[in-house]
Amino acid sequence: MASAEERLMEWLRDAHAAEQQAETMLSGTAQRLENYPELRSRLEQHMRETQRQAELIRGCIERRGGGTSLIKDTGGKLMAMGQAMSGLFVGDEVMKASIASYAFEAMEIASYRTLIATADMVGDQETKRVCEQILHEEEAMADWLEQNLPTLTQKYLRLEETPGATAKH
Ligand code: MG
Ligand code: FE
Repeated sequence: MASAEERLMEWLRDAHAAEQQAETMLSGTAQRLENYPELRSRLEQHMRETQRQAELIRGCIERRGGGTSLIKDTGGKLMAMGQAMSGLFVGDEVMKASIASYAFEAMEIASYRTLIATADMVGDQETKRVCEQILHEEEAMADWLEQNLPTLTQKYLRLEETPGATAKH
């Protein structure tokens, strides 16, 4: 039978692996964007936040006496690279990447809410505080995407109809 403390450690490791995956995905996507400067700079901003989040989560794991899983981190990074590279083969890369980013943020928001409840239950106030801080950044990123998706979509569609313009990224 797993204890709440064990689950907290496991879920913190999952969160750490997800942040590493996010960093690879965000940098891969941002680097390829040429015609969407606002999206590119927001992704770059969130990539820097994501690097910090990974460090903060690593700090929580180490404070609780654990280590991060190299296998999970590496696997996630490879998957993320594949996801970012898959944009090379689709004509609507920027749209696919934006939708994937929003889905990823939703996953992170749910994961951090779970972690906050778990940290609260085992009485780890510092982990709870860290996860609440990260949750705000994930919500801000999801809000930004939500607000900017319509404009982004229409810009994409207009570029696609413009002769000689690159719409995909
Ligand atoms: Mg994150
Ligand atoms: Fe995020």
